Amino acid sequence: MIHATGPLLSLDVSKRTATETNIDSLLETHVGGRAAATALAHERIPFDADPFGPKNRAYLSTGPLQQSQMSFTGRMNMTGLSPLTDGLVSSNAGGYLSRNFVSTGISVLEVTGESDELLAIHVTDDGVTFEEVPELEGATVPEVSEYVETNHDLGPEHCIAIGPAGENLVRFASVMTFDSRTFGRGGLGAILGSKNVKCVTFSGDVEPPIEIPDPPETDVHREAAQSDDPMRRQGTAGGTEFINDNFSLPTRYFEEYEFEHAADIGGNAVEEKKYKKGACSACAYACKLPTRDEETGLETEGPEFETIYAFGSSQGVDDVVDVMKGNELCDSLGMDTVSAGVTVAAYLASEDEFGNAALAQEVTEKIAYREGIGDSLAEGVARCHDELGVEDFTVKGMEFAAHDGRVLHGQGLSYAVANRGADHMYAGMLSLEYSGQIDPEGTLGKAETLVREENSAAFRDTGIVCAFGSEYVTEERLETLFDAPYEELLEIGARTVQLERHFNNRRGIDRSDDELPYEIPDLEAAIAEYYDARGLNDDGTVPDSTVETAASSAVPTN
Ligand code: SF4
Repeated sequence: MIHATGPLLSLDVSKRTATETNIDSLLETHVGGRAAATALAHERIPFDADPFGPKNRAYLSTGPLQQSQMSFTGRMNMTGLSPLTDGLVSSNAGGYLSRNFVSTGISVLEVTGESDELLAIHVTDDGVTFEEVPELEGATVPEVSEYVETNHDLGPEHCIAIGPAGENLVRFASVMTFDSRTFGRGGLGAILGSKNVKCVTFSGDVEPPIEIPDPPETDVHREAAQSDDPMRRQGTAGGTEFINDNFSLPTRYFEEYEFEHAADIGGNAVEEKKYKKGACSACAYACKLPTRDEETGLETEGPEFETIYAFGSSQGVDDVVDVMKGNELCDSLGMDTVSAGVTVAAYLASEDEFGNAALAQEVTEKIAYREGIGDSLAEGVARCHDELGVEDFTVKGMEFAAHDGRVLHGQGLSYAVANRGADHMYAGMLSLEYSGQIDPEGTLGKAETLVREENSAAFRDTGIVCAFGSEYVTEERLETLFDAPYEELLEIGARTVQLERHFNNRRGIDRSDDELPYEIPDLEAAIAEYYDARGLNDDGTVPDSTVETAASSAVPTN
């Protein structure tokens, strides 16, 4: 089976040391990406670590397909102990980082410890440099990029960076790359902030050492380039009206399921602002959305659908330029648009100010700097809803993505049991329910499908393949690419999900946390079916024998 190549590079920012460890055996069984990072995190982050403490670790990892020139592979994985959910999270970002990361020759970067000075770290194929950068304190993400360009002659495609939100330990701070692509969910930016790491750059000349089977490599690329799918013009924004028509667009902080102004902030409205094509590295599908508002001069990339929901319908905001502004603020300040937008929506609910975009933008900035009410909101809805006097619409501390589980019941079940909380990328139930492949009504009988979808997503994040490439990078093609039966690839995904859950169990997360803030039919029975299909104990914990199989003895201890 092909797998990522290169050592684990471990950076202890307390001591400013860099250590390379051969992890070939781990990569042979866990391939790379999310699976390898999760196996490392499971073994090397102490179960009782403080998410903001020096013992937490952040992992940035590549899969083997990042050594190809195939579409849908311009992606990277990040994993760590989340300040938002208090469990393991992985997040996935596009852009152009992956090829520059591969050019350093490593497969996984690990960051641990806590620096006493703000650092920029430079990783090359020739070694690591720790640079003190007090002048970047409080810098926005574009300001960090400008610094790196001016002082190191490296563009934003070489860099991961945090903004003020990460430095200020906002629990949903993001890690940004290429200024506009986001390791968004779960507060990975606050982990780097707690370690006083402002940015990490990657550059080198290492040639990828593996050969990707062709076909399907060039077939996928050609089909991506020739596709006439509307998503190539409108990205995920193009789904807004369809989702609204299916009563799955949470509106005014979950008061309603549809937004009367969806068309004003949806795909056509965004496409009108699009001024050029955008893509991720090596991707001919090019679904990204560089947008500009000529009247105000505002430029951003997006909004993608989830931002349209979080900064649009959730806040009762009906002007696409205001949604673009929310997107631009989050990218610049370094925050997940979903958690930030929904938390601001909770605030607007508490103030009876839905539709007040100026207030929403003001509060968004306050969150990043923890000013005034922003200090409470920076904790996320689960921790501030009592103060606001609103309901806690989160699962395991994570604010909901759109795709309302009150209508798509299989997706609701997925939100309830996901190790990551209320995130739509954890399993693909929403796609199956929107397309009618399974009936959105009811939760019973869906557990086997949910387990398979979770395993599939976990392997996709391991390979790494973009979530939008499934029509092209099919199961059959994955078998050819990885020279393994698809069921074997799903097993790698399954081991990853089990290790996440076991880590979370050890932190006290169990059956009582697999829940929803609203009622859907037969949820308790459906969760029991899920535990059965997943092979879990009745209390939602992973049996010891399963942990032994899922964990890798090849993970180096430290
Ligand atoms: S399909 Fe879109 S998001 Fe996915 S890799 Fe290609 S350009 Fe990036």
